[in-house]
Order: sequence, then structure tokens, then C-alpha cells
Amino acid sequence: MNRLGLILALLLTWLMATAASARPTVVIDPGHGGHDRGAVRAGRHPEKIYALDVARRVASRLHRAGFRVIMTRNRDAFVSLSGRCAIANRQRQAVFISIHFNAAARRGADGIETFYYGRRAYRLAASVHRRLVVAAGTDNRGVRRRPFYVLRHTRCPAILIEAGFLSNPREGARIAHSPTHRQRLADAIAAGIIDAHR
Ligand SMILES: [Zn+2]
Repeated sequence: MNRLGLILALLLTWLMATAASARPTVVIDPGHGGHDRGAVRAGRHPEKIYALDVARRVASRLHRAGFRVIMTRNRDAFVSLSGRCAIANRQRQAVFISIHFNAAARRGADGIETFYYGRRAYRLAASVHRRLVVAAGTDNRGVRRRPFYVLRHTRCPAILIEAGFLSNPREGARIAHSPTHRQRLADAIAAGIIDAHR
């Protein structure tokens, strides 16, 4: 390789490294796990199962898009809230995405809500929420600021997604019985994360 070639190769390597570092590591946090089952409906799996399923789909989609992805759990195991935050706080530059499903005493309640706490996380929350509401086709319950533990104790931008109500007969059935629906939710979450880092 001549000198010009070497300089160009070094420049290209530097540009690629810079482009890669502009993208955060995505820490995906499937809610609950192990003895903590999350929302439960008779005759259906608990929330923890669907949270993990959708989280894995989001992870594989982001991985294919070139993101570095870390899961706070990748099996049905209990991880403390502080343990989840510690995983995120070990990363140099990250975003934290906690995935949950909702339940309410009122069976008619349905839809998507996305939470953030740190102001820096608002853009990410809004971006994911916008995509998710379209994909779910149910009620838009809004982007809300709430001091949830995992949102307060992560140093990076952090959001918590409630991707639908297991307690709603229609929405719950789609979440439980349609892998296509869960993939659609996962694709929307991934697309929202990608939108926020263009
Ligand atoms: Zn939950």
C-alpha cells in the first residue's frame, strides 16, 4: 500500500469508529422475571414472558441494524431493579429501554404509554411512542414523566414502555396469541430507537 492509500485507510477506519461511537449501546430490560411474574391473567402466561419475548425481538432487530445490544436478562430469571440499573451504568454510552405490559381492573382499558424521567430521555420516549402507537392500533395514552426506580437510577437516557394491556380482552389476546403482533410491537420499538439516533 502506498502512503496515500495508508492515509486513506486510516481515515476510513477513524470515520467508521466515529460513526460507531455516535450510536449508543442499547440496554434492553425485559420487565420482571423469575418469582416476579408481573401482571398475570388467568389462562395466560404472565407479563414477564411477553416482556422477554418482545425484548428478544427488539434486540435482534437492533443487532441487525448495527447496534451493540445488552439484555438485563435473557431468560426467566429474577434480576433486582438496582441490578438492572447497574448493568446500564457500566456502559460508557448507552440508552436504557425497559419493556412491560400493563394490566388494569377496568377491562376496557387499553393502549400504549411510554414513561421517562430525565429530561434527556424525552426525545427517545417520544420517538419510540410515536412508532408504537401506530403499530399497536390501540389507545394513545401518552408520553409521561414518572419517577420509576429504573428511570431514576440509570445515568443514561432511560425509558419504560407499557406496550399494551394484558387485562383487555382484545389487546391482551393479541399480545398473548399473536407472534405477528409481538413482532410488530418489537419492530416499532426498534424503529423508534433508530429514529432517535439518526
Ligand atoms: Zn411490568
